[in-house]
Formats: sequence, C-alpha cells, structure tokens
Amino acid sequence: MTSNNVVPLCVPNLGSLEHKWLEEALNSGFVSTAGPLISEFESAFADYVGAQYAVACSSGTTAIHVALHVLGFGPGDVLATSDFTFVASANPALHRGGSLSLIDSAATDWCMDPNLLSESLKKSAKVGRLPKVIQPVHILGQPADMGAILALAAEYEIPVVEDAAEGLGATCRIDGKAQHVGTLGDLGCYSFNGNKIMTTGGGGMIVTNDPALAGRARHLINQAKVDAPGYLHDEAGYNYRMTNLVAAVGMAQLERLPSFVEAKREIARRYNEAFADLPLSRPPLVAETESTYWLYSVLCSGSAERDGLASALEDQGLMARLLWRPLHQQPYMADAALTTNGVASELFSCGLSLPCSTNLTSADQERVIAAVRQFYTH
Ligand SMILES: *Cc1c(COP(=O)(O)O)cnc(C)c1O
Repeated sequence: MTSNNVVPLCVPNLGSLEHKWLEEALNSGFVSTAGPLISEFESAFADYVGAQYAVACSSGTTAIHVALHVLGFGPGDVLATSDFTFVASANPALHRGGSLSLIDSAATDWCMDPNLLSESLKKSAKVGRLPKVIQPVHILGQPADMGAILALAAEYEIPVVEDAAEGLGATCRIDGKAQHVGTLGDLGCYSFNGNKIMTTGGGGMIVTNDPALAGRARHLINQAKVDAPGYLHDEAGYNYRMTNLVAAVGMAQLERLPSFVEAKREIARRYNEAFADLPLSRPPLVAETESTYWLYSVLCSGSAERDGLASALEDQGLMARLLWRPLHQQPYMADAALTTNGVASELFSCGLSLPCSTNLTSADQERVIAAVRQFYTH
C-alpha cells in the first residue's frame, strides 16, 4: 500500500530560522526598500559566490533586465541566449527593444552549445550584426561551458551576462579553480523565486566585479534617483529594489544554502543509482563542473514514453513536470534568429523533471523510484 499524499515537484524549505529573521525585520519597523538587512544580504551573498559586488533586486527577471540595461543593451540590439530555457531569460531583451539570436544546446550539458554560438557569431560578424550581449543560461543547475563561451566573447569583444537563476551553488573549474556560476561573466543574475534552490518568496540578485556596473545597476533599480535634494532623476529608471522583509528571508535561506545544495546532490545520487539499469538518460555529468541538480530531470526515448511515465507518476500523486518548450516555438518569438541542432526540441519532447524538493523525504523519494521502475519493468 502506498499513501496517497502528493509529492510536489520542488517546493520551498522554510523553518524556524526564516521566522526568526522575518520577525527581527518586522520588529525593526524596516519593511520596505530601506533597511539594514538588504545590504547585509547583498554582502553575505557576494561572499558566498565570490563576487565583489551584489545588488539585490525584486526578481531574477528584473535583475536580467537591469543587467542588460547597464551594458547599454537597447532598441535594435541582439541578445544571443539559449533556445532551451525559461522565457524569463529572453523577455527582458525584448522589453529593452532588442531581438534574439537563439542558440541550441549541447547534448552533453543541455546548455548553450559553444560550437553553435561560434557558428552564429561568424555569420553575424559577416553581415555586421554581432550580438550586443551573450547570455548563457546555467540550465537546471548544470553550469554552461563557460570556458568556451568566454573565449568566444573575448574573441568578438562582446560582454557576457550569465543567467544563473537556476545555477546558484553550482561551480565550474576555470584555470584550475572552482568558481561559482554567475561570477564568470561581466554580470551574473540569480533568482530567489519560490521554486529555486533558495527562495525569498520572490527576489533576485545581480553580481559583478566591476564597481561602475554595480553602481549603475543600483542607480537604475532605485528610479535613477540622483543623490541630491529635490527629487532629481537623471533617466527613466525602475523600481526593482528588494525589500527588507525579503532580505530577511534571504539571510536565513543563504545560511541554509550549503545544506540545500548537499540535499539536491544527494537526491540526484540516489536517483542516478536507482535508474542506472533503466533505458532513461540521466542528467548531464560533465567533467570540471559541479551541478546542483536544481531540478532533477531525465530523458525518455520518445515523447509517448515520456507522457506515459508522467501520467503513471501523476496517478500516484507524484508531481513530475515537462521541460521547457524551446523559445523558438513560442509564438511571439517566431522571428528570432535560430542556430539549431535539434537538442532543445528533443529535451522538450522527451524530458521530465522528478520530485526533488530539498526537504523530500527518503520515503517519498523511494515512492518516486518505485513508480519509475514499475513503469519500465512491469
Ligand atoms: C526562474 C528563472 C528566471 C526568472 O527569475 P524570477 O525570479 O522568477 O523572475 C530567469 N531565468 C531562468 C532560467 C529561470 O529559471
């Protein structure tokens, strides 16, 4: 007999520490966008990832929007980004009046394929329309191939914004040193949305080692308000700041983040071991990178099989979810340039994410494993 309780896909892990920090913030009276916990959270976050500067924002999407803006990305500019990603990677470029050059994924890591990026850059250089910014995305907790992408960015002198919304805690080895994703480009953006590895309810962070970029981002998110009496604003800014209440939750979650990363890796280890003999592709395992397996996902051998597995799990209250529809298949992005090898489409038709909350119990994980094994072996 299995119990009928639902096992969610990926839910927040909140406890007494969050209550403690939130209560402190409430008691301080600082609930809004001024308050001591915002800068405390920024500097603790910068320390964790190993960046010089961190600027707290209202979401991962607004962090990306501002990161593009500070690099001068505007009307008519092209953003080279992943075809296989959540739409929030691409919408800010469109809101800035730009267009997209979508780069398909490498089969090895499911992230932007540097060979396709190179092909696309060669072509656009010929017609004099290079991207203004290259924005790799660290998909599902797996670092993109930053060594190769940064080399291309340097060759063509194009700045890099990392969409590290799903990559917090993941590292890759560059010049022999393990470095956090998000700290390798000119700017890196993170998300603290409810389903991410740590959450503040909603929030984001921009990191950079460039004081001018950090200062400009901070200025823009605060309505481009000039530090002078009498409401002087020097351009059309944004109200994209984080609040002190949100930062309080961030302080608690950041303290627990190393344990969340460990929990995700342990969940992945157990799934990998349990599925080793099944005809399923397990998540990428790439030398010189350490994934967090933020959303543990497998690939079935076809879409009918994937749909069957998804509904078999759902019948038992085990919440699995399809991977993203490639951006080039989104109707409003149909005119984007596309450099493709078919991998994103395959991930969309064959991929399935399994329950992997950091507070997933081993009993619940064993239920998922039993259901998957039963699907393939009964
Ligand atoms: C979640 C996510 C974002 C956006 O973050 P929000 O905080 O939800 O705005 C951006 N890019 C990717 C790849 C994401 O998964």
